[in-house]
Amino acid sequence: MSTDRATRRGLLLVNTGNGKGKSTAALGILVRAAGYNFSIGMFQFIKSAETRYGEHIAAELLGVDIVPLGDGFTWLSDDIAADRVLAEKGWERICEAIASEQFDILILDELTYCLTYGWLDEARVLETLRNRPSWMHVVVTGRNASPGLIELADLVTEMHLVKHPFREKGIPAQPGIEL
Ligand code: ATP
Ligand code: MG
Repeated sequence: MSTDRATRRGLLLVNTGNGKGKSTAALGILVRAAGYNFSIGMFQFIKSAETRYGEHIAAELLGVDIVPLGDGFTWLSDDIAADRVLAEKGWERICEAIASEQFDILILDELTYCLTYGWLDEARVLETLRNRPSWMHVVVTGRNASPGLIELADLVTEMHLVKHPFREKGIPAQPGIEL
């Protein structure tokens, strides 16, 4: 089995939908790919730099960097301009990461929000993803994936909400399951 860039077919994966599991599934790929010593970059929109959950600690053990793009500011503030600046800065870092060809797999967690809220220009984002190196896998997560993103993607999975413990029983997020 070859894991070489020369023979690899880079795929664009999209995990979307209202059900839980979009980011978890992306982390599953991170674990799998780490097993082959792939270079993995996970960039998280929405989350702030202070959040340090199980996945951040575990990724460190695997030698993978999960980068929150919040820089300590809060997303979804009342200040739309501030959110937009944050998204733009984050996108710049991702463009640099793609151009540097450092990562075999790029995980763009919650990127869809930047498109839904209009923080980033969708055409520009799709163009960059389309023109990435042919061997680079990209995983995008987030609700409400746009038709354009779905069209460009090779693999799209929609998580469908059947039951959620918070909705059913008011059970808050549990360590190891949700954070
Ligand atoms: P996860 O990170 O657990 O895989 P996700 O990426 O699919 O979830 P997000 O949209 O990023 O989902 O939501 C973040 C968190 O919000 C999840 O951990 C999830 O359990 C919680 N959540 C999702 N749907 C609901 C719901 N209907 N009611 C309450 N909490 C929810
Ligand atoms: Mg998520």
